[in-house]
Amino acid sequence: MATINRNYLKLPGSYLFSTIAKKVAAYSSEHPDADIIRLGIGDVTKPLCPAVIKALHTAVDEMGEAGSFKGYAPDLGYEFLRNVIAQKDYRERGCDISPDEIFVSDGAKSDCSNIQEIFGLDNRIAVCDPVYPVYVDSNVMAGRTGEYDEALGKFENVIYMPCTSENGFVPDIPKEIPDLIYLCYPNNPTGTVIKKDELQGWVDFARKNGSIILYDAAYEAFISEEGVPHSIYECQGARECAIEFKSFSKTAGFTGLRLGYTVIPKELSAGGEKLWPLWARRHGTKYNGAPYIIQRAGEAIYSDEGRAQVREQISGYLENAGIISEGLKAAGYEVYGGVNAPYIWMKTKDGMSSWEFFDYLLENLQIVGTPGSGFGPSGEGYFRLTAFGTRENSLRAIERIKGV
Ligand code: PLP
Repeated sequence: MATINRNYLKLPGSYLFSTIAKKVAAYSSEHPDADIIRLGIGDVTKPLCPAVIKALHTAVDEMGEAGSFKGYAPDLGYEFLRNVIAQKDYRERGCDISPDEIFVSDGAKSDCSNIQEIFGLDNRIAVCDPVYPVYVDSNVMAGRTGEYDEALGKFENVIYMPCTSENGFVPDIPKEIPDLIYLCYPNNPTGTVIKKDELQGWVDFARKNGSIILYDAAYEAFISEEGVPHSIYECQGARECAIEFKSFSKTAGFTGLRLGYTVIPKELSAGGEKLWPLWARRHGTKYNGAPYIIQRAGEAIYSDEGRAQVREQISGYLENAGIISEGLKAAGYEVYGGVNAPYIWMKTKDGMSSWEFFDYLLENLQIVGTPGSGFGPSGEGYFRLTAFGTRENSLRAIERIKGV
């Protein structure tokens, strides 16, 4: 008789965004004329930039000619893309990363959920709280955690590192030593960043204890301030203790195209074994490469023209973030993030819980956001708004909030 992977049963019922979608659908059916402003899910709204569209057209035409047709992509990704990533994202920032340490993929979600496969099931993971749920859930599915404790909102055998206004949303070094440490900066959901010296502290800690840092830099392109690291490899010694994930989704609006990459330095090892060959093996066995057309589209964001166009898109989102943050502050809210990230993390009003505040905004102002508690127990009392909506909707949302 076939059996299932019972670890899946440990996952609590409904996924955060499906609960939100159900609540919004119920409200809409009761109030069909309601003009709802959606600042909840972190998906982009701006169309792909002209340089990307041009590259896509050219690549599509190549696929229609016998002389330029492409089948399976090379395991690690096409060299034209890995070379430009190594140059522009790393070497030009003073980070020593070579093209063959870059694994091109269909996005950061797959990579940061799959990476745990190359580590032993006895590894203890540490995550920030609140957290992008993928890191925890993928480890639950693999069997690296205990049961979910409904009352605490936590899985057993996971080290949760609270990130609140008290510690500036950068976790304190935990008392227990984790084997795998997930860090994400600029952060989803808090929209906050880590300073280079703080990140260096984590690198030093990991090296001292033989831990591996899994660094998700999916929002790196939104960094607008000096002193904020764009890559963990800006820190000394990070090649010996860190894997980095990057995505084209938020950088260039590729959420529907799908492209990302993972960096594994050649010397990086765990328990005396090198990690690069394991990930290469995993990639080769379970993945057949991001499409040629999409990799050409990715290459296009590194041209002078593409860079300028992508920068303009990001500036537009950051302007929305500014409109929302400043508006909320003017309305008396305590607000974080939104400067180096497309997320605004706010304290709820009058001591409301995150879900009470969700209902309050939906029912009174017809604004949809994301309850902070959905990202972990330390998110309770906080609420996330995204800057990925239109400028007009960002302004309209703030008008409504200020009008209360
Ligand atoms: N990492 C973080 C922190 C994210 O917020 C997201 C998407 O929202 C991803 C990764 C997923 O990126 P991708 O679209 O490349 O899979």
